[in-house]
Amino acid sequence: MTHHRPVDALVYPRFEGIRTFMRLPHLDTTERLAEADLAVIGVPFDTGATYRVGARFGPAGVRQESMLLRPYHPELGVDVHAELSLVDAGDLPVTPGYLPESHAQIEEAARAVLATGVTPLFLGGDHSISLPLLRAVAARHGPVALVQLDAHGDLWPGYFGGKDTHGTPFRRALEEGLIDPGRSVQIGLRGPVYGADDVTLPERLGLAAISADTLHRHGVEAALERVRARLGADGPRYLSLDIDVLDPVYAPGTGTPEVGGLSNVQLLQLLRGLAGLSFVGFDLVEVMPAYDVGALTQLLAANLAYELIALAAVAKRGAA
Ligand code: MN
Ligand code: MN
Repeated sequence: MTHHRPVDALVYPRFEGIRTFMRLPHLDTTERLAEADLAVIGVPFDTGATYRVGARFGPAGVRQESMLLRPYHPELGVDVHAELSLVDAGDLPVTPGYLPESHAQIEEAARAVLATGVTPLFLGGDHSISLPLLRAVAARHGPVALVQLDAHGDLWPGYFGGKDTHGTPFRRALEEGLIDPGRSVQIGLRGPVYGADDVTLPERLGLAAISADTLHRHGVEAALERVRARLGADGPRYLSLDIDVLDPVYAPGTGTPEVGGLSNVQLLQLLRGLAGLSFVGFDLVEVMPAYDVGALTQLLAANLAYELIALAAVAKRGAA
């Protein structure tokens, strides 16, 4: 079977070629995804956004800034291209302006992707896409342990008469039994909310929550201890990374920025601290190139996607 890897940067300059993620081969038919261990897949949908829009251009922006990524991850000691057959599978179909229709399209396409056995890394898109993605993931794997890195819980049921937005996906996912709350954790929550009830909402729904303030006070290692204990030794896990978990200083190009967020280093250490755990899928959402400054957010997002790929590489090596 073909082992897919990027073109050789020692032969072809990094600025050459078509912009797939990391200059990986583009597999444009779902059937061929069985040739890959992990596929990067865009979900360019932002009709779920309630404030700024523009995350539809997130996948293109992250791909653009992914050109400099190199194979070997020094801290985790893994060559991602040696360990994994990697491809860019292009973008899922969406219908701009039509959320329920687009969610149905995303779920159907994600189910087809998962049926090949490939591990998907989805690039959003606004955070509403996590709901149809989790529907597809849970249909294949059962309820998942969720690691959600986000300034916001996205558990609000009540916006605009109860309609789905990027503020609601995990409330719906809990209602539909797509997430196992007892094994799930939200990290990085902060910012003013509507009332005291919002602060206790994750726990009342059975989730663990580590606020940004707690993380700043007690550090990354203490957070990791709680996360690992929460996730347990086995069972399917899904990681959802909202770029606004980072402070706007590091990630200005996003839709609902909140001050006091994680630094790039804190987030890198947090993700690397998950090495050894396997995940059945990942998403990285809410990157908005139009609000970015000097492509900072897109560059960081590309590197975070690389960290997630490295987690998959370490997990595969451990399972071998
Ligand atoms: Mn979010
Ligand atoms: Mn958020």
